[in-house]
Order: sequence, then structure tokens, then C-alpha cells
Amino acid sequence: MTYSLVGTAFCGWVCPQNTLSEWANNMTRKWLGKRAEVSLDGTGSKLSQGKNKGVNWLILGSMILAVAMLFALAPMFYFYPPDVIWSFVSFRDDSRLAPSMHWIYTIFVLILWLDIAFIRHFWCRFMCVYRVWQHGFKTRETLHIAYDSRNAEECAHCNFCVSACFVGIDPRQTETYDACINCGECIHACSQIRASRKTGGSLLRFEVGERSDSHEGAADKRRSNVNSIFRRAPWALLLACFGLGLFSWGLWNYQSFHFSVYRADTPQAQAVVDYRISISNKLYRPMDYRVSLIGLPEGSYQLAQRALSFDSAGRQDVRLHIEQLSPGLHPFVVRVSTADGVEENFRVNHFVAGKKR
Ligand code: SF4
Ligand code: SF4
Repeated sequence: MTYSLVGTAFCGWVCPQNTLSEWANNMTRKWLGKRAEVSLDGTGSKLSQGKNKGVNWLILGSMILAVAMLFALAPMFYFYPPDVIWSFVSFRDDSRLAPSMHWIYTIFVLILWLDIAFIRHFWCRFMCVYRVWQHGFKTRETLHIAYDSRNAEECAHCNFCVSACFVGIDPRQTETYDACINCGECIHACSQIRASRKTGGSLLRFEVGERSDSHEGAADKRRSNVNSIFRRAPWALLLACFGLGLFSWGLWNYQSFHFSVYRADTPQAQAVVDYRISISNKLYRPMDYRVSLIGLPEGSYQLAQRALSFDSAGRQDVRLHIEQLSPGLHPFVVRVSTADGVEENFRVNHFVAGKKR
């Protein structure tokens, strides 16, 4: 519903790729000249004579590298808690850091540096699958750029909005399935140029609703846009409630830990008598867990630990050894519980070979 209403506005206003690309374009213009950006139509950068100096290239390259190094830390948070990342950036020894971490980080920095320095908006225009997916929900009424053609003669020798559009389309002729990402850059460009000429406000504007003749009165246009939104509202509200319900259900049922029971490595053809209970704490704070067995007589098994403590997120294994059971199937349950009463069970079918007496 959001995509149907605002189209690809995410790409124009939120997407980190486009944000970084826009920043890189601005910095390139600042240090190498107004026409030095990486262009989508394949034309080479036009460097300003006065700014094409080694020191400017060095400053620009270093800035891009610094931003790449900063953003390359983001994927690391998937693997490590913040204090380990801090150890990494402050060059402190930390046994929790994998020895290959420096190489992985270097590869991320390199990929990001290449992306920010050379790829930029190419990704959005030609490679982004997410943008194509959002396009699938667009209709003729989706948020788009509308053009007031009453002052078209003013545009004859202008084209300022076209040069401001980084996806390389003409904002005066947008279509339902074109590459426009509703960033609003062309609206801003037009209002700037018209303000400098003292001829009024922007000839371009955002519009939701049926694409129609821009000569329609402002009040009619507003009414038609508001109607368009309200026509979508009932089923949008239903879908939003459904999504909110799923989100709440997820939060309510969130488990702070996960555990599984595996057979310990046993030579082939030997009876399984050892199990590995693997407990993962998902929270970045100290947690205590209790392990118990239900369904096996006391004395027939040995649990290496019945209580486990975690300082932070992580995984620990507990060994379970079973013996002195008669031949046959012995189902039992491994239970892991927390101090605040949350418990999880794992059912195991333990088989002892041999003839029943
Ligand atoms: S047409 Fe305007 S809103 Fe659309 S991408 Fe180009 S600059 Fe952005
Ligand atoms: S910037 Fe405004 S005045 Fe210039 S071409 Fe675009 S719409 Fe026309």
C-alpha cells in the first residue's frame, strides 16, 4: 500500500546507497568542479581547470575512504556485540575477535570504496532489484512529479531540472513506470532557477492522484488528490493492522535463547550414548539458564552442567551421557529454563539396542 501511494519514495529519501551517492557527488563537485560528477549517461567528468590538483584528489579520495571505513563497520555488528567492535576499532586485543576479522573488514572497505567512488547512482538506475520490486505496486495515481505547462516557453532554453535529475530523465515528462524515485531534486532546482529569474515558484510539484492536465484548478487538484488517498485508506488500514498484529505477535513470542540437542560424535556402528545440548543466548546482557531432563530415571544419565551463565550473547554446549538403560526406546525431554520462568523443551528418542528381557 505504501508503494502504491508513494511509489519509490524510499529510494529518494531513505536509501543509504543513494544518500552516499548524493554525498559523493556533492563532494566531487566541491573539490573537482561543478560538472565533475559521475554521470549516468556515460559522458566523462568535466573537471574544473582550477581544481584539478593532486591535493584536491587526495582530499576527495581520503574522504571517500574514511566514509567507506565507517560504513564497513555496520555488517560487523551482525557477528559481534558493540564492545567487541569497539575493541577492534581501538586496536585492543580481544580473544572474541576472529583472526580473519581484519581481512573481512578490508574487503568490505574496498567494496564500499569502489561503490562510493565509481558506482554511485548506477546501482539505483540499473542494478537495484528492490526498486524494480517497488515499481510493481505503482499505479497511474501513485505519487509522481507533475508539470505546470502554462509557462512552457520559459523552459525552452533552461533544462535545469533535467541536469539536476541524477537518474537522467526529464522531470517534465514523467511516466508511471519510469526511473523517477520521487527525490524532489528537480522541484528544488526549478524553484531555485525561477527564484533567481524572479518569475515565481517551481513549475514542478509532487502530486498524488490521476495524472491529468495541470491546468486544473488548485482546489480541484487538491480535492482529487485527497480523494485518491481516501479511496486507498480502508484496505490500507486493514493491511496495516494485520502487519502491526504480526509485529506484536513476534515481539510477544520473542525467545531470548535457542537450544538444540545433537548426537555427540560417535564412531560408526557404536551405540549413541552421548548428546550435545547446544544453548545460544541471543541477548547482549548476562543471563542464567537451568538444564534438566524429564523422562529418564535419575542415575541413568549424567549432565555435565545443570546451570549455565552467559555474560553476553553467545553459545555454550552441555554434554549429556546416558547409560544403564534397558534395551528399547526411551523418549525423554531436555528442558532449558530461565530465572524469569521462560522454558523450552526438546524431545529426544533414545534407543538402546539389544533384546528385551
Ligand atoms: S524526476 Fe525529479 S523526483 Fe524524479 S528522480 Fe528525477 S529529480 Fe528526482
Ligand atoms: S527547471 Fe523549471 S523552468 Fe527550467 S526547464 Fe525545468 S521546469 Fe522548466
